[in-house]
Amino acid sequence: MLHVNAIAVGDLATNCYVLTDTETRNAAVIDPGAPDDRLVTALKGYKLTDILLTHAHFDHIGGVGLLADIFTPQIWIHELEAAWLNDPERNLSAWVSPLAHVTAPPATVIIKEHRTYTLLGRDLYVKHTPGHTPGHLVYYIEDKAFVGDLIFCGSVGRTDFPDGDHQTLLRSIKAEILSLPKQTPLYPGHGPATTVDTEKTHNPFMQQMDTL
Ligand SMILES: [Zn+2]
Ligand SMILES: [Zn+2]
Repeated sequence: MLHVNAIAVGDLATNCYVLTDTETRNAAVIDPGAPDDRLVTALKGYKLTDILLTHAHFDHIGGVGLLADIFTPQIWIHELEAAWLNDPERNLSAWVSPLAHVTAPPATVIIKEHRTYTLLGRDLYVKHTPGHTPGHLVYYIEDKAFVGDLIFCGSVGRTDFPDGDHQTLLRSIKAEILSLPKQTPLYPGHGPATTVDTEKTHNPFMQQMDTL
C-alpha cells in the first residue's frame, strides 16, 4: 500500500502529498507548492519518480524546481496549463506579488485526455476537472482522490480568477467526484482531508448541483 504524507507548504498552506512505496522505495509527490526542506526530508531513502500537478497556480508548483534538481522526476500536467509553469501572469504569482515570480521546470508528461496511466506500479486514473482552472486534474489511485483546488472540506475552489468558471467547476464535481464510491477519501489542495459522503451531506455548494 502507498503511504500518504501531507505537508502544508508556503504562504497559502498548500497541501503537498508525498506518496511512498515502502517496498520499491519509489515515491511520487503531488503539488509541491513551495521549496520546503521538509519535502526533501520526507523523501529521504526514496527515489522520487514523478511529480503530479493538479494545476499550475503558483502555490502548487513553487517547489517543483527544488525537487527536480535533486531527483530528475517526470513532471505531469494538463496540456492547457503546461505553458503556465513558466508564465507568472497565468500562474498568478505576478498577480499576488510582482517581486516574487514563481516558475517551474517544463513538464514531461502532458495530459491530453481522461484515461488510466501507471504510477508507482499501480493504476492511476487521471480526471480532467475544469472550473478552478481550465486544465485542472484530479488524480485517483488506490481508492483515494487527490482533488487539488476543485473541492475542499465544506467548500469549493475559487473561480473569480481570469480563467475560472463556477458552473464548469460544479459540473466537474458532479461528474468526477460525486460519482466516486461514497467512502472515498478526498485529499484537497488546502485544509483537511474529507470524504465524498461527508461533502455530499455537509458541503453547502451541493444545493447548487440541483440546478445543473
Ligand atoms: Zn489554485
Ligand atoms: Zn491552491
